[in-house]
Amino acid sequence: MSKLKIGVIDLVSKAPTKALYARIMNANLASIMPQVVAIWCQHEGHDVKMVCYTGREQLDKELPEEVDLVFICGFTQAGLISYALSNYFQSKGAITVLGGPHARCYPDDAAKYFDYVTGFTNKVVIKEILDECAQHRPIGRYIAAPNQPVDIPGVVERWQFIEENLKKAPFLKMVPMIGSMGCPYTCSFCIDSVVPYQPLDFDSLKADLRFLQTKFKSPLVGWHDPNFGIRFNDYMDAIAEAAPNGAVRFLAESSLSILTEPNLKRLKENGCVGMLPGIESWFEMGNKSRASRITGMERVKQVSDHTNMIMSYLPYLQTNFVMGLDSDEGDLPFELTKRFVDLSPGSFPGYSILTAFGEAAPVNLEYQKDGRVLPFPFHFLNNHLAMNVKPKNYEWVEFYDKVIDLTAYTFSRKAIYRRVKASNNFTVKWMNVMRAISSEGYGRLRFFKQVRKMLVEKKSFRDYFEGESTVLPEFYINIIKKDLGKWWDWLPEGAIYHDQNAYLKKNGLVGSDLKVAGKRRVSE
Ligand code: SF4
Repeated sequence: MSKLKIGVIDLVSKAPTKALYARIMNANLASIMPQVVAIWCQHEGHDVKMVCYTGREQLDKELPEEVDLVFICGFTQAGLISYALSNYFQSKGAITVLGGPHARCYPDDAAKYFDYVTGFTNKVVIKEILDECAQHRPIGRYIAAPNQPVDIPGVVERWQFIEENLKKAPFLKMVPMIGSMGCPYTCSFCIDSVVPYQPLDFDSLKADLRFLQTKFKSPLVGWHDPNFGIRFNDYMDAIAEAAPNGAVRFLAESSLSILTEPNLKRLKENGCVGMLPGIESWFEMGNKSRASRITGMERVKQVSDHTNMIMSYLPYLQTNFVMGLDSDEGDLPFELTKRFVDLSPGSFPGYSILTAFGEAAPVNLEYQKDGRVLPFPFHFLNNHLAMNVKPKNYEWVEFYDKVIDLTAYTFSRKAIYRRVKASNNFTVKWMNVMRAISSEGYGRLRFFKQVRKMLVEKKSFRDYFEGESTVLPEFYINIIKKDLGKWWDWLPEGAIYHDQNAYLKKNGLVGSDLKVAGKRRVSE
């Protein structure tokens, strides 16, 4: 096999951005798998250029030139820019491959624009693509391993890419690591609920932690495990052995059920500085929470007590919620979240609006079967720009009123002030203020208000949200055009539309049940 020139592109951002939060954090949000794929390509003897696009670079200046093969990885929100890039590279004679979350959620759509689309990816899958390296057009070849890999290159091997990338992070420099794949819990909305839990090799993890201590005085790691600390004692023993006395600080996502007081003591001793547990809702999805048997205000009090206890051990806490779930009805869910903001002033609430990402989760089949999934372009599917599932118990204007009210409450001057007062840690105070006044707090509030206004004023806009029209409102087209800039011209025809019921059809469940057809129409 001849030596190939390979590009690997990690799309952290979908578009250029000047947002303060993105400037500070995006370089810390690089994915692990693109770096892993780049290393596997090197193992096979090929030349690799890695690009991590954070939205701050001039993308066309960063792109690898005269490549034979390009791997692109991104979340669904970067789906359109990835299609444009694939078109561009194919026009230059390259073979293109899409991997990562968008490929897993929308494989059939992605296959229209890439030569290969990958599911679970291991070294064998990558070697097969490298060995074949052939055009598959008009429909790309889908290739997947039966499971996620258990053996991936660690930080030592990936350092060449991590180091380069962290040069773009102005203050916080967070190294991406992972110690386990999948999750033993079965939350029906989660992509990891169908992936069996498997820990990776603790010896490599220890070697990586030791290596990092030679690179930074006090390294900071972001664990990418879907649910950190499932084999809690093994994990903590490994960290304590390689990085004693909290020599390596870290942040992770974990279930509340893992964050018990004895575990928090160990986490603190071992350098944990922040956790991002999911609360999701006051009325459902409690199978991973210790508060699973109670709902409503009782649950708010219990979870608040729990989060305040967590904050007595860890300086940083983000609590994640989903708005618009089927179990939510009326004012109560939103009012309860406001009470939580009052009772847990130190935690930063991370809000998502309900989004069904294609094949990501089993519950999406139900939404599709009920005809409730809307065909919002991928560009807006990032948990806050568009809710692509029609709410079960709310009219749209009513729903946006409540989302706006809660967001305004959470990022009011009073709440920001209370959040600052609740922490003794300067970095945490500063991060929480920055997130509130940047794209996440004020930015989203502005956007929600714009959407609400158009829902009231424009019938065609409302019809799209009701599923009565598939004509994409100009408002959204203009955003895509502005965000993509010159890459708009490289977007393949029809790429802004997708079949929002593809998962259902694939499962042979189409027919009279399907109330909304996946029709495509142009907007003009
Ligand atoms: S506990 Fe977290 S990672 Fe595990 S299935 Fe539920 S949401 Fe997913």
